[in-house]
Amino acid sequence: MSTQINSSDQCEKCLPAHCCNYFAFGLDEPVTRKDYECLLWKLAHEKVSIYIYRKAWYIMIHTRCNFLSPTNKCTIYETRPYICREHSVENCEYTGEDYGFSEHFKSYDDLLAYIKVNTKFRFKQEPTGVTPNIA
Ligand code: SF4
Ligand code: SF4
Repeated sequence: MSTQINSSDQCEKCLPAHCCNYFAFGLDEPVTRKDYECLLWKLAHEKVSIYIYRKAWYIMIHTRCNFLSPTNKCTIYETRPYICREHSVENCEYTGEDYGFSEHFKSYDDLLAYIKVNTKFRFKQEPTGVTPNIA
């Protein structure tokens, strides 16, 4: 996370500073029906998505950092947390080839469809038609 006061051309083009508009953390891989139901419940909430990256499952919370200015600059750049310091523009969400998720569930229905195709579990529920949590 390195949107900076003197941000690079790359960051200028990456609006609205993708790396400063979410955080994510790992989840246990779902195994049981209950596990999948729990993930569906998570996706029932606004501004949440779930993705699979290198076979590991993660939840992503889509929320803007309070220190990102209206012009997408980090207002605490000199004292930003280590996680932002270690984030490199050379291999970030905007440019890094390593950021391809094998699955990205942006809505309840996305995961419902995945469960139907990839697991033995059957949920009676039809697609909800609820708008995806994120663009
Ligand atoms: S995702 Fe990359 S290009 Fe975009 S603001 Fe962050 S460091 Fe800059
Ligand atoms: S502290 Fe600065 S670099 Fe880190 S996420 Fe917030 S705005 Fe981005």
